[in-house]
Amino acid sequence: MTQQTKIEWTDFTVNFWEGCQKVGPGCDHCYAEARNQRFHGDNWGPGKPRRYVKGGIAKLHKINRGAEKFHEENGHWPRVFCSSLSDIFDNAVDKVWRMEAFSALEQATDTRPQLLTKRVGNVFQMIPPSWAMHWPAHVGLMITVVNQAEADRDIPKLLDIKARLGIPWVGLSMEPLLGPVDLAQPYAGPLHCAVHCKDHCTAHGDEECPKFFDGIDWVIVGGESGHQARPTNPQWFRNLRDQCDAAGTPFLFKQWGEWVSVSEVEGPGRHHRFDDGRTVRRTGKKLAGRLLDGREWNGVPT
Ligand code: SF4
Repeated sequence: MTQQTKIEWTDFTVNFWEGCQKVGPGCDHCYAEARNQRFHGDNWGPGKPRRYVKGGIAKLHKINRGAEKFHEENGHWPRVFCSSLSDIFDNAVDKVWRMEAFSALEQATDTRPQLLTKRVGNVFQMIPPSWAMHWPAHVGLMITVVNQAEADRDIPKLLDIKARLGIPWVGLSMEPLLGPVDLAQPYAGPLHCAVHCKDHCTAHGDEECPKFFDGIDWVIVGGESGHQARPTNPQWFRNLRDQCDAAGTPFLFKQWGEWVSVSEVEGPGRHHRFDDGRTVRRTGKKLAGRLLDGREWNGVPT
């Protein structure tokens, strides 16, 4: 069984339904919504029905059946990005569909499902009771974080859930990256520290507080693609790469997107200059590629 998707951080995508609602700046140019419209779907926004994907569960079972062969050929179990055209923790979806999806995920033990959500606050209340007792050891959880405000709001929730449910690994999908993000923030969540520190640690001193990085197992970054793509300052990527390197956290640079640093791909065309003087050029996603400072960054959690 060969890889089915070109998405750099996964091998397969599986969707149990299609449709969603925008919840933040990372959703502004949602490719799944554009795709849905292209195929005359009307499944986006409040009150809009989600569309059940008939073959979704069967596809996951098929990947699971072929997992051993995939492992022999590729050296790892098949990674499956769950819900590339929706959000598995969308509160507007039929609960029966979600429970069917969780059941199929639980059974697909030879796959490595990657649940990616922008609704981390819904996770605890939407998982089946059996997952609250024993989160399946083969399933990981990722959240989207596109700027510091989302990092500060959602990473503590992710780390609390990881600790509370015993999730084997959690990650950040920082795409499209829309601002600088510092992941070395002190984290004083209730399950990591006995003291609710708010802004500053009153028990240990800020240096000794756990940091976001202490619980994050994977960081994926990328720029935006599509005709309305917003440029990303190359230094925001580099800073995250260097932070990951210092913390020993796997770092994957997925793509530049439409805009690429002029230090990476030279040439004429439309430029965008950031306040710090760094400049990117609109080349299109293909030409922009995925080299950062001359090389690929393909870290994955072990
Ligand atoms: S959560 Fe994902 S699928 Fe839903 S609107 Fe946002 S980007 Fe699109």
